[in-house]
Amino acid sequence: MPSPSPPPVLPISEHEDEIVAAVDANPVVVVIGETGSGKSTQLSQILHRRGYTRRGAIAVTQPRRVAAVSVSRRVAQELGVPLGDEVGYAIRFEDRTSERTCIKYLTDGVLLRESLSNPELKQYSVIILDEAHERSLNTDILLGLMKRLIKDRASDLKVLITSATLDGLKVSKFFSGCPVLNIPGTLFPVEKFYSTERPTNYIESSLRTAIDIHAKEPLGDVLIFMTGKDDIDKMVSKLEERIQNLEEGSCMDALVLPLHGSLPPELQVRVFAPAPPNCRRFIVATNVAETSLTVDGVVFVIDCGYVKHRQYNPSSGMYSLDVVQISRVQADQRAGRAGRTRPGKCYRLYPMSIYQKEFLEATVPEIQRSSLAGSVLYLKSLNLPDINVLKFDFLDPPSRDSLEDALRQLYLIDAIDENGKITDAGRIMAELPLEPSLSRTLIEANELGCLSQALSVAAILSAEITLPSTRSWDMEGKRKRQELPDGSGWGDHIQLLQIFESWDQTGYDPKWCTDHDLQVRGMKLSKDVRNQLCQIIQKIAKGSTEVHARKSWKSDPDYRKLRKALCVGYGNQLAERMLHHNGYHTVGYRGQLVQVHPSSVLEGDEYGKFPMYVVYHELISTNRPYMRNICAVEQAWVEPILKKLEKLNVNRLSGGTSAPTDSEPTNDKQVNLPKEVTDAKQSEVD
Ligand code: ADP
Repeated sequence: MPSPSPPPVLPISEHEDEIVAAVDANPVVVVIGETGSGKSTQLSQILHRRGYTRRGAIAVTQPRRVAAVSVSRRVAQELGVPLGDEVGYAIRFEDRTSERTCIKYLTDGVLLRESLSNPELKQYSVIILDEAHERSLNTDILLGLMKRLIKDRASDLKVLITSATLDGLKVSKFFSGCPVLNIPGTLFPVEKFYSTERPTNYIESSLRTAIDIHAKEPLGDVLIFMTGKDDIDKMVSKLEERIQNLEEGSCMDALVLPLHGSLPPELQVRVFAPAPPNCRRFIVATNVAETSLTVDGVVFVIDCGYVKHRQYNPSSGMYSLDVVQISRVQADQRAGRAGRTRPGKCYRLYPMSIYQKEFLEATVPEIQRSSLAGSVLYLKSLNLPDINVLKFDFLDPPSRDSLEDALRQLYLIDAIDENGKITDAGRIMAELPLEPSLSRTLIEANELGCLSQALSVAAILSAEITLPSTRSWDMEGKRKRQELPDGSGWGDHIQLLQIFESWDQTGYDPKWCTDHDLQVRGMKLSKDVRNQLCQIIQKIAKGSTEVHARKSWKSDPDYRKLRKALCVGYGNQLAERMLHHNGYHTVGYRGQLVQVHPSSVLEGDEYGKFPMYVVYHELISTNRPYMRNICAVEQAWVEPILKKLEKLNVNRLSGGTSAPTDSEPTNDKQVNLPKEVTDAKQSEVD
């Protein structure tokens, strides 16, 4: 058994008695404390020590998967127990808990799903909604659910809401004036330096600042905020190169470490290991290092002032991945990372006037910038009395447009009927850990006898496999791509299926993946995901389920069954080709001109014409609106969807209620973005 490694005394530990007294006396307590004060790692241990796990387990939710894994690993280490025993974690498609687990870290999405099978969440005596300031969609919904739950379980459930920056009073008001505990942090002063103007290239500018620090400043780690994995990869390789070539040299060594959510676990843990002697670490991170993960030893912060946001527009059904300015709260959080162990410095690559006048005060909550179809389906399936999603008690309500958009989508894929009532199919869909369209596809595929194929498609889409590049300059990528199956002219879903089946034929040989430039880790994940989906669907779907992956074209050479299932599943994401060219318009209540994404495998016929109807996995807007992951479908399958569209009456779907709110999502301010931001958007398409 591993021996315990007790944590250093963290600010929260000094308030143990006060915290326990507040929790003893109140069903809900808000705990506000600086990042790194010990909320994520210590609160659960304190309550465990004080006997709260005698009646049930302690659940600690995290908005990010990487945080759930990392923090649970740390707590297991501190308690000296193997991970998965008393301390474990559960994230989508990965459960490392056992019957003995009494401190369970889980993503907020997993807790929501658990509440479907056990609405009272009786297995827990304490639920800690951690990182509430992140305002993730699922945590916001959980806040509303907790409010209901504590009425039913007032005597035996304790709810804690923790946050680094959240407006404590607002949450306290939401929970009828519950107590707010402020844990004073020991933040050292952080000197802030502003640029005189926005740099035209923030990667280059961050690079120069980092090298400057390395040459002139005493020992201390540097945390550099970038917007995403692509930027981080670029930054890491350029920084390593420049450090090596540093003319004047430096009297210390340097280590450059990336940190983002899709980093393999063995690389993630490297940032928590202390720096070697006389070595400066450069940690190049996304906003995951803002509050979710605390990296010790940071003294210098470089803040480019941007973050990447996925933003959904309910009137077009389109997602855009935008690089937007951070909020003032985020900027302050980033700066704060420099002052945890001693006075630090923060280099802001923007002028003070931009911070003061252009940055929003706080980040727009995810609920106001996401598609709500999945969340509304959960709420509908919870069977709560008097539940009308338009009137659900949200901390900050989403716009009526996005709620109505969700209802329309759910209706078109048969998850709710024309009166807004959840259907039997809708209930099964809610239980599957997939977005509603994919769940609906699986149900239809089961009926049509092509479940095995649909499971492979769902798994590979969920594992977010990246295919070799189709960028014009990447000849090697293009060659590798051409060696992959081609979807037989039916589109990307069929290609993904063929890829999975080809790999299956090799007995899941990792070499096949590397030979085809596919990440082994992602492909293995898709295999695991497929196994799990098989188990879940066999449990919940009635009738026979044929779930073994095998070469399938022999029985259905045109993939008609699978394409029909996809057409039903993606009935809310259907597009019709324009008569005279290969552009499409989306069918339905939000008609929109769109193009086939350049990375799609779908090609025109011998006359260059594309299929008349396609369904798409998502609409993204980069420099123009594109459909990504497309499948050709037939007119006869489209007819029933068109009929449903004719009958669609959103007033009936929403139970004839009028608007609950007139609050609209706050749009990010229009700003002139520097060139590489536009390049970053462009590279999505290239
Ligand atoms: P908060 O939730 O208040 O931000 P945490 O409980 O996450 O604070 O962090 C408290 C301390 O534990 C910090 O010093 C942090 O560096 C350390 N810590 C957290 N997670 C890990 C980990 N996975 N490995 C090593 N140290 C960690």
